[in-house]
Amino acid sequence: MGRKELFHSLKAEYERRCRRSKKRYESLKELLVSGGSHNIRLFSPFPFFDESCLGAYVTDIDGNTYTDFWQGHFANILGHNPRPVRDALGGILDAEQGLITGFPGTRQGDLARLLLQQVGAEKIRFTTSGTLATMYAVMLARAFTGRDTVMKVGGGWHGAQPYTLKGISVYEGGYDHIDSAGLLPELEDVIRVTRYNDLDSLERYFTQNGEKTACFIVEPFIGSGGFLFSSPQYLQRARELCDEHGSLLIADEVISGFRFHPGGLMSLYGVTPDLSVFGKIIGGGMPVSAVCGRREVLDLCGPHGPTGRHVMFNGGTFSSHPAAMAAGCAMLTYLLKHADEVYGKIGALGETARNGIEEVFRSHGFNVRCTGRPQPGLSQSSVVGVHFFKTDIDRIDSPVQVWDPSICDVDLRDSFFKLAMINEGFFTAHGYGAISFSHTAEDIQRSIDAAERIAVLWKTHGIHQEY
Ligand code: PLP
Repeated sequence: MGRKELFHSLKAEYERRCRRSKKRYESLKELLVSGGSHNIRLFSPFPFFDESCLGAYVTDIDGNTYTDFWQGHFANILGHNPRPVRDALGGILDAEQGLITGFPGTRQGDLARLLLQQVGAEKIRFTTSGTLATMYAVMLARAFTGRDTVMKVGGGWHGAQPYTLKGISVYEGGYDHIDSAGLLPELEDVIRVTRYNDLDSLERYFTQNGEKTACFIVEPFIGSGGFLFSSPQYLQRARELCDEHGSLLIADEVISGFRFHPGGLMSLYGVTPDLSVFGKIIGGGMPVSAVCGRREVLDLCGPHGPTGRHVMFNGGTFSSHPAAMAAGCAMLTYLLKHADEVYGKIGALGETARNGIEEVFRSHGFNVRCTGRPQPGLSQSSVVGVHFFKTDIDRIDSPVQVWDPSICDVDLRDSFFKLAMINEGFFTAHGYGAISFSHTAEDIQRSIDAAERIAVLWKTHGIHQEY
């Protein structure tokens, strides 16, 4: 069986298991663009529709149950619908609070205090998505420095906001191109792209362009770029270069925040950014994001920000939404109280998954490498990427390596392996995903066993012999 036939049989099996979902998807395509509201959820051939989600598991409308490593775009560190957040939400709704009022409410101060204390920042402002928060952070940096240029890394995803929509997809010949229509043409020059973890390129960039650079926005742990950690040296040198050239360092911690310990990843590296952006986990499953950092930068968006430099980080009917603030407080309070238990468990499961998946594929002749292993200095990591390499590779430290189809078999990972794992009862992302506190050692072992069945089948059909 060749690849075409393999994909055909995976699809046929999926369609057989998900008849109702297929029907629903067909009817939704008439209403919603491509049948949904977020492209990443519309995987091929069609998404299944969840009926209930609890802890590690999702049950779809056809009655199939999946062990889920996607966990709400990696937001659900305690698993789906965790009890502490449900209790907090039920409590405030019963107290005739929770829905939008347009008043400040009593809980945003609690969440702000928790976040500032854990992150070590001076000021904070909330909004509703990681996309909006990174956009405001860049606007603040541009206003504060009076400069235009925004530097980011190739493969860095900061949401679909104008100032970072360049260098995301590698498919169309490298990272140096704008990824969306509808943007001002000037952005082509305003956004500059460098290679993740490449100190020489960073030095060269700042020597040539430092004086016009407003900010360097970077994920200390790159998520959609392939689950890779920055090296500590890279971030430490980035801090120095930003200082030397008067640019701001923006840490995008939308994925990394509260994923590896109850706080930001930057503090574990001993690097203090000028601004940090948080999202996902901090909302406890509700739409919360935040920009926090230096007082004098954030103060530019207050109602009395200086004329000419006032930043319109403003509006947002649902900013600091009462229910979302309560959910965020419940989540962070739980994580703080149970930090050793939560991070110890999910980190150990992450290690088992990375080692186990790599081992079964490699023992059947596949050049598979798992990403997400903690950097020296980090005690654990609960994220797992699975990549099928076409060449031998020493160190995996850049998104180019896991997204360039000439280096990594992107299709085998994102189409074949994803669908094969779904048929085995596991929902994965970037080859595997993020482990939650609800997952058990048995869940992880079952996922390794499933990967082994897939490896054996593919080997029998000669799939791995193509390179
Ligand atoms: N920044 C990073 C690192 C992300 O991973 C994401 C989303 O995945 C965003 C920003 C955008 O966040 P949101 O999807 O909440 O707008």
